[in-house]
This record gives sequence, structure tokens and C-alpha cells, in this order.
Amino acid sequence: MKLADYTELWQSLGLDLEAHDGLLRTLGQAYKEIYLSQKNRPAGMDYFDFVISEIHGLRIRELAEARKEGRMVVGTFCLYVPEELVLALDGIAVGLCAGADVGTEAAEQVLPRNTCALIKSFFGFKLSGLCPYTEVCNLVIGETTCDGKTKAYELFNEYKPTFVIEVPRMKSPAARALWRSELGRLAAKLEELSGQPLTAEKLSAAVRTVNAKRAALHRLNALRQADPAPISGRDALLINQVQFYDDPVRFTEKVNALCDELEERVRQGVGVAPAGTPRVLVSGCPMAAPNWKLPFVVESSGAVIVGEESCVGERGTRHLVSEEGSTVDDILDRLAARYLEIDCAVFTPNTERLDHITEMAKTYAADGVIHYALQFCAPYTIEAARVERALAAQEVPLLRIETDYSMEDMPQLQTRVQAFLEMVRA
Ligand code: SF4
Ligand code: SF4
Repeated sequence: MKLADYTELWQSLGLDLEAHDGLLRTLGQAYKEIYLSQKNRPAGMDYFDFVISEIHGLRIRELAEARKEGRMVVGTFCLYVPEELVLALDGIAVGLCAGADVGTEAAEQVLPRNTCALIKSFFGFKLSGLCPYTEVCNLVIGETTCDGKTKAYELFNEYKPTFVIEVPRMKSPAARALWRSELGRLAAKLEELSGQPLTAEKLSAAVRTVNAKRAALHRLNALRQADPAPISGRDALLINQVQFYDDPVRFTEKVNALCDELEERVRQGVGVAPAGTPRVLVSGCPMAAPNWKLPFVVESSGAVIVGEESCVGERGTRHLVSEEGSTVDDILDRLAARYLEIDCAVFTPNTERLDHITEMAKTYAADGVIHYALQFCAPYTIEAARVERALAAQEVPLLRIETDYSMEDMPQLQTRVQAFLEMVRA
């Protein structure tokens, strides 16, 4: 990863420059091995390679400049925080770093060791001064999803202002009313932070922008139904990860341009692996960048990943917001309805997720599903049993993986994935 010199920028954000250099070196090496070594990648991936090479550089400079112009930059960790509200107030929403085994020692001085890797990671990034996104944003918006995050935000607020919204765990009429009122409370907070009033016109425009982004990702997903698959699962995951950092309009254009290329590949029967290669669906916890471990293991074991039932995948993008509504209240109602359709495992009951996984297995003609859960993540590790049963009823084999962000279990993962793929092939 060759970066321009951003030392001054990073210094101004208070990063630990030495540790940050080390992080970028490690990331650059991992990216080379996991991404740049792939054969027959679509040319449209050049843009996403560039974004990753500049993920702590150019994009941070853009955000810092936006701050100088008086625009708010808001950091998030979860799908339930509507990007539309931030955009409608001329702000920028970014996903914060939470996908690397970084600063774990520092995080474990504050958090219990048996906390999931994602939470330890965002704490570690902050405590070790390694995440320029956290530093550049005015505010972090947290949510009461799992217990781990809910309680961690109380502590995180001691290091970075964190505003928490209440996400219910059921979808009853009372829960819907609570959720709608929480979006109103969030809107008021963002109006205060931006110094602007929320208008129906701007909110509608933001809804259209984010819908267009999700529609581009639907297009990408539909192309992955082809055999041979025109793009690797690693690359598709990367695109899904970049959506949380990049400018939404620019991102949408680039995804659509890539899809034009992939359509041509599908027409010509060109793929990243031969037709008939085992097709795998990955389901479970989000894989925040740069968490590429499992996809690398799967695809270097002779399979291709054709879909992600994940927050960094279809769980986050499949629903669009209704574009009707002419008042702020109307549009907030529609936003609230759309966001409560997300089928995160923190909800009970959560049969929509089981239906979605079985439907995806069919649509993408998956030969098997790998259920990926982070260790100590109760919602996903427990829900895995129901996922397994739902898929067994459709005769789709499932492999359950529990892991973290360290590389120590790579050999063990490889052995398990290879055995699963052999079973699938047989
Ligand atoms: S898994 Fe649930 S809590 Fe975690 S980011 Fe996704 S929606 Fe949010
Ligand atoms: S992976 Fe699980 S435990 Fe960790 S933050 Fe997400 S829902 Fe919570």
C-alpha cells in the first residue's frame, strides 16, 4: 500500500504514528496475499483496491475537510443507525474500524476477555490511537442491540462522545412505537449537531441516494447467481465493506460500472473459478474490514463464496426505504419501518432470518452454508442451531464456525473447511 504523506493529518488527529505505520504495513501485506494474488479479477476492482490503499489517507482527508467546512461526521457500528438522517443534514456517516485484532491488550484492561472480537476491536482501535475515523468524527452513535455493545458504549463514551439509541428486541406494535420515537430523538440530536433543521426535501433526497446505493448492491448480488461466478466472494465482501467508508454517490457509480463489466462476463461465461466449483453462502456475524480471514480460507480451499447473509452483505442492503412521503414525519415513519425489517439475531423471534437464509441458499444455488460467529457472541452462536435445522429441512449442509480476529486458528479452520467442501462435493 503506497500512500502519499499523511503524517501531518494523522498527527493532528492524535494517532500513535509508530503503531499506525505498523498497522498499515501489516494490512498492506495481508491485502497483497488475500486480494492482489487473486487470478482473473474484474478490472472494476481497481477502484476498490485504490480505496483500500487510501482508506486511512485520502478518505480521512476528505472527512477532515468536511469538518473544516462545518459539516458533521458521524461514526457508527451498526446497521440500525440510518445513514439517511445524517446525509439529510449535510453530514457524513462512516463505519468505524472494528475488524482487526488491534489493541486487544489495551481493550482487555477495560473490557472482560470474553467479549466478542468486534467490540474489543473498536475499543482497541480507540485506546491505541489507531482509528483515524473515530478521531475525525464529531460523534459516535451507538445502539442497544446486543448486551456487549450496549454496555461497552457506556465506557466508550468516556473516550469519545457517544449517543445511544434504543433498538428494541421484538417487533411488536409497542416496540415499533418505541423505535419510531427513538428515530425522532436521533433526528433531533443530529439537527442540534449540524445546526440545521431536517426538511422533507433533503430527507427524501437522502433516501433516494441510499436506495440507489443499495440497488447497485442488489445488482451485484444478482450477478453472483451465475455459474461460473463472475466475481470472488472476497471481492464482493470488500465492496460491501467499502460501502461503510466511501461517499455514497461515488460508491454507487463505481459499483454500477463494475456490474456492467460483470454482466459482460456472465454473457461470455467468464468466471473467477470454473463452472461447477462448490458454491458457498456465508451467514452470521458481520465481517468488518479488514476481517478477510474466513473468505480467504474458503476460497483458497477450492470453493467460491456466492453470497453473504450478514450485516456486511444482504442483511444490510436487501430492504429499500419507501420513497413516498411528503413530510418529515411521514418519511421518518417509512425509515423506521424499513430499519426494523433488519433481521439481526438480537431480535426474538427472528424467523425472518431463517427464511432469508434458506431463500438465499436456493437463489444462489449454494452447495453449502458456513455459519460464521464470533466467539462470545451469544445472539449468533445460539441462533446457529435454528439456522442449522432450517437448512437441514432443505437438505443444505451447514458448517458452524466460531472464531475471532487472530490468525492462530487458521490451520484448524482450513482443515474444517476442506473437510466440509469434500463432503459437499461428494
Ligand atoms: S449483527 Fe446486529 S448488532 Fe451487529 S452490526 Fe449487525 S445489526 Fe448491528
Ligand atoms: S458480533 Fe455479536 S456480540 Fe459482537 S457486537 Fe455483534 S452482536 Fe454483539
